[in-house]
Amino acid sequence: MKETTAPVEPLIAGARRHEVCQILGETYDPARWNDWRWQMRHRLTKPDQFEQLLRLTPSERRGLAMCHGKLAVAVTPYLAELLDPYDPSCPLRMQVVPREEEAIVSPTDMVDPCGEEHDSVVPGLVHRYPDRVLLLAIDTCAAYCRYCTRSRLVAHGELDPLAGRLDAIVAYLQAHPEVRDVLVSGGDPLLFSDEKLDELLGRIRAVPHVEMVRLGSRVPAFLPQRITPELVAVLRRHRVWLSLHFSNAAELTEDVAEACDRLADAGIPLGSQTVLLRGINDSVPELKALFHGLLKLRVRPYYLYQCDPVVGTSHLRTTVAKGLELIAGLRGHTSGYAVPTYVIDAPGGGGKVPLHPQTTVSYEHGTVTLRNWEGGEYTYLDPVAV
Ligand SMILES: *Cc1c(COP(=O)(O)O)cnc(C)c1O
Repeated sequence: MKETTAPVEPLIAGARRHEVCQILGETYDPARWNDWRWQMRHRLTKPDQFEQLLRLTPSERRGLAMCHGKLAVAVTPYLAELLDPYDPSCPLRMQVVPREEEAIVSPTDMVDPCGEEHDSVVPGLVHRYPDRVLLLAIDTCAAYCRYCTRSRLVAHGELDPLAGRLDAIVAYLQAHPEVRDVLVSGGDPLLFSDEKLDELLGRIRAVPHVEMVRLGSRVPAFLPQRITPELVAVLRRHRVWLSLHFSNAAELTEDVAEACDRLADAGIPLGSQTVLLRGINDSVPELKALFHGLLKLRVRPYYLYQCDPVVGTSHLRTTVAKGLELIAGLRGHTSGYAVPTYVIDAPGGGGKVPLHPQTTVSYEHGTVTLRNWEGGEYTYLDPVAV
């Protein structure tokens, strides 16, 4: 149910830019607006700024008031412009504007649901799987998703600056020849300066057995201005893969399309990760619009995550049954490329476990009975031993 009754105005790109700048005490200037550092310096963080930007609901107002000391609130001016001022169910607004439900701690909520601290081998390096590691490089993001799985770390000063940790991280990589894949995440590693990122990637690339480097980033969605030709040159030089994060087709603006084009034109393989969120993307039409939109931008949907049981996120989570139903509504109904793998990052550090709708009806005596996407049953016979 909508919490306000005001009519929803159509969102016209650029129409609210002047208003956003006014809230920031700035005059709109296209050159500054398109400068990612200006965007970062002018993020909306204070309740009174959101009071001017949006017609807040009582729940949002209380959510904003209580967020001090918890997961920070920050919204880039670019993103602020996209938030629907009247509709609290706007999928972007629901992701970045806190609600009072964040104070609800359900008994199954966890501070570190994926058990990353347990598998941490040196500060900010998680080694769980045999051949790959997760490097938490930075604790800053362009904007803070309310369902963040690393809310224990981000914007809290919990993660020491990389400069003081990098030698130990590189030493660990050098001492572990089984590590062939390094996933750099955070926070958001694309918020490093070009020079810092170049240095970090250079240090990782100098380890001879590292074959693959990937970066996880929400920056193309929340701060597309960051995807400059200079940054793209750094990413290209180190032959990285990018795992982007998108939740809803409303994030796929002209600016985002340009940023993705720049990356794809440079030959950088682009994947996308999506968290399943109640009221934000938990329907087949919403997911189809998102995944089709991503494929148009040459971004391959990689994972759909069941939302981790992070403290204060129960209002944004939905059931596993719902997730399975959504995957069943995609598989076969649309391009295989538009169907990501649905996974649960098993609480307690079990890692990513894929879930699939039931397609094997039975398998006995070399006879598999299959259920296809339309519900029809088919039989496959195993080869007879010769
Ligand atoms: C997700 C993750 C990876 C990468 O997993 P893939 O399935 O290869 O994408 C590696 N390490 C940790 C700790 C992770 O959470």
